[in-house]
Amino acid sequence: MHPFRYNRAQTVEDALQSFGKEPNAAFLAGGTSQLDLMKEDVLRPGALIDIKRVPLSAIMATKDGGLRLGANASNTAVAYHEQVQKRYVGLAEAILAGASPQIRNMASTGGNLLQRTRCPYYRDTTQACNKREPGTGCAALEGINRVHAVFGANEKCIATHPSDMCVALAALNAVVQVQKPKGGTRSIPFADFHRLPGDEPQRDTVLEPGELITSVDLPAFTGRSHYLKVRERASYAYALVSVAIALEMDGDTIKAARIALGSVAHKPWMATDAAKELVGKKPDAALFRAAAEKAFEDAKPLQHNAYKIPLGKNTLVRALMETSGLMPLQGTAGTAFASSAGGVAGDDIEG
Ligand SMILES: Cc1cc2nc3c(=O)[nH]c(=O)nc-3n(C[C@H](O)[C@H](O)[C@H](O)COP(=O)(O)OP(=O)(O)OC[C@H]3O[C@@H](n4cnc5c(N)ncnc54)[C@H](O)[C@@H]3O)c2cc1C
Repeated sequence: MHPFRYNRAQTVEDALQSFGKEPNAAFLAGGTSQLDLMKEDVLRPGALIDIKRVPLSAIMATKDGGLRLGANASNTAVAYHEQVQKRYVGLAEAILAGASPQIRNMASTGGNLLQRTRCPYYRDTTQACNKREPGTGCAALEGINRVHAVFGANEKCIATHPSDMCVALAALNAVVQVQKPKGGTRSIPFADFHRLPGDEPQRDTVLEPGELITSVDLPAFTGRSHYLKVRERASYAYALVSVAIALEMDGDTIKAARIALGSVAHKPWMATDAAKELVGKKPDAALFRAAAEKAFEDAKPLQHNAYKIPLGKNTLVRALMETSGLMPLQGTAGTAFASSAGGVAGDDIEG
C-alpha cells in the first residue's frame, strides 16, 4: 500500500479544512470501498480525512414531508429506519440486496454513492484503464465485457456503476446535499449526480475536489416503490441487471412513474420515455412489455453482454408487475440468474 497521512475530523468545517491542506486527499467514511482499493494499489491518496466522527449520521424528517439521510448514516440504519420501511420500500429492498450485514453496518450513505466500479480491469493494475489511469486505454473493450454497459458507454470506458442503493435513490428522485470547500452548499438532483464517461471516465460524479456530501434527501412520496436485482447467485453478488420503480396511483390508474435501471450504464440509467408510456393508463402486462421494449430500444450490446437486453426487459416487466400488484412479490429483492454463457469476467462480482 502506498504511504499516506491520516487526519480524523470532528466537524464538517474541520473535514473541509483538513482536505484543503493536503495536495491529494480523500475522505474516509466506512472505508469498505476506499481501503480495499488502496490495498490493491488502485487508489493512492496522499492523505485520508476520516469523517466517521463528523456528526452526519442523523435520519430525520424534512419540512416538506420527506426524509433526510445523513451522509454518515450506515446502510443498515437507512434500510431498517421505520420511515424507509414504510414509505420508501424500494430503497430498503435495494440496500438489503447488496453486500453483507457486516459491510452494510460499516458502509455509509455518502460512501455508497461514491463507491467505484467493479469492472475487473479497473481493479487490475496490470491492465489498461482510463478510469484508473487516464490515457492508458480500456482493456475491457477487447476483453471479457460480460458485466459492462449497454447504455451511454464509449471507447474510453464501458464500466457500470455498481451500487444497488443508488438505483433506488434515482427512482425516488432523491437530492444530494453538498458542502462546498470554500463555503456555501449546493443541491444536486440524483439523476444528475453521476456522470457518463465522456472524455473524463476517471470522474464518476459531478462532485468537485473537496466537496463533502452532507446528506441525501428523499422527497415526500406516498406511492409504491420496489427494487428487483438479478445476479449470478442469490446473495452476496453484484447485480447483472437491476430495476427500481416508483409508481404513484390515482385509483387504478398510474398517475406518475419513474424507472431506474442498474448495472447497465456508468450511472443509474433513467428510463424516462418508458416511464412516460405508463402515465394515465391502468397496470397491464402488455403495457409493461411495451414499456420494457421502449426502455431498451437504444441499448448497444458489446461482444459478451447482449444477454443484458432481454434480461433487463424481463426484469423490468416483472418489477412493474410486482410494484403494481399484478404479480405477488417473490419475497426477495434479488434473483439469481442461471446463465448459459459461463462465468463473469474476473472474480470480482461478489456484492
Ligand atoms: C465485499 C463487498 C461486497 C459489496 N457488495 C455490494 C453490493 O452488492 N451492492 C452494492 O451496492 N454495494 C456493494 N458493496 C459496496 C459497498 O456498498 C460500498 O463499499 C459502501 O457503500 C461504501 O461506503 P463506505 O462508507 O465504506 O465508503 P468509503 O470506502 O469510506 O468511501 C468510498 C468513497 O466515498 C468517498 N466519501 C465517503 N463519504 C463521503 C462524503 N460524505 N462526501 C464525499 N465523499 C465521501 C470516499 O472518499 C471514497 O472515495 C460491497 C462492498 C464490499 C467490500
